[in-house]
Amino acid sequence: MDSFALRREKLIALIPDGIEFLALSNPVSVTYLTGFTGDSSWLLLSPHRALLVSDGRYEVQIAEECASLETHIRPPDRTIITAIAEVIAKLKPGSVGLEGTHLTCADAERLGGLAKSVVWTNTGGLVETLRRVKDAAELAEIRAAVRMAERAHAMFVAMLQAGDTEMELAAAMDGYLRRAGATGNSFPPIVAVGDRSALPHGKPCDRRVEESPFLLLDWGATGRLYKSDITRILLTDHLLGASGKPRGEIESRLRKLYTVVLRAQEIAIAAIRPGVNASDVDAAVRAYLETEGVNDKFNHGLGHGIGLQIHEAPFMRANSTDVLEAGMVMTVEPGIYFPGWGGIRIEDDVWVTPDGCEILTSVPKSVDAVFGI
Ligand code: ZN
Ligand code: ZN
Repeated sequence: MDSFALRREKLIALIPDGIEFLALSNPVSVTYLTGFTGDSSWLLLSPHRALLVSDGRYEVQIAEECASLETHIRPPDRTIITAIAEVIAKLKPGSVGLEGTHLTCADAERLGGLAKSVVWTNTGGLVETLRRVKDAAELAEIRAAVRMAERAHAMFVAMLQAGDTEMELAAAMDGYLRRAGATGNSFPPIVAVGDRSALPHGKPCDRRVEESPFLLLDWGATGRLYKSDITRILLTDHLLGASGKPRGEIESRLRKLYTVVLRAQEIAIAAIRPGVNASDVDAAVRAYLETEGVNDKFNHGLGHGIGLQIHEAPFMRANSTDVLEAGMVMTVEPGIYFPGWGGIRIEDDVWVTPDGCEILTSVPKSVDAVFGI
């Protein structure tokens, strides 16, 4: 059984009683379950059947990516919703599960109107639950995406100039990622110079590198399909050998705060292992930051799963109900932010192993590596 058929088997085991078919509309779900990477195509799945409903644009691609799968190619005069309703009418299931986490209300209503004898139920979230734990092929793809991001980082540092703006650097990073073999970025890179780093998801602007001794860089690669996500603080004054700019005060405060965030990340990584509540890892970090008097500056979750999407389950945050399992891959990214001054975030990607976790990312982050000895 190939890995896609295995994933479908696992999903079938999760189908609630009374539901005969799942009608999977999210292209991410379809890719995960079939290997098909196009869009506008649904997978109808029952314990006895897997049927991909697609259109003529994708016939060649389907033959390349999932040739063994049963397909229904809708004619150009049918929308995907009409085609699904027609196929479902032939299959005559009593009840069908829809991905309410993805399907629009309008499409769900149209389906209901076209196939009135079917009971349509929201079974959204089932595939997302499965996707939390990565198999060996997925882990290999994430490792590759991490390496691409790291190669791009090396190019970024080598090419950095004092006069570069955040926007120029973000655009350059996109190019470095592609040169490193990525199909693209995994999200638009964040380059935030000095006090702009206090905006956890700030948009790049025309601020120049030389206007501050440091910048925050948050970037990631999309490999073939899977994604990576890393954040580092760059001491640009050091990297550029800037002289004649006595900015020691900013640097010494930055170094102190950086040390706290790095310690917070170490605490999180030490706490990650199967069976631990994701919310407890977040709580451990907050308890430490509280002792340092900066927990109120940590204004986002501790980490998120990465995979086919840049933000996916599990989530490490206070209100998470996720329990960590071996095979999960997620970010660990504590950050503290001081509006008007700057922010520090350190983000790495980890893979949960049977007895802890392995850090997949290796861009240097020790105080010595970042600040020099
Ligand atoms: Zn990030
Ligand atoms: Zn992240």
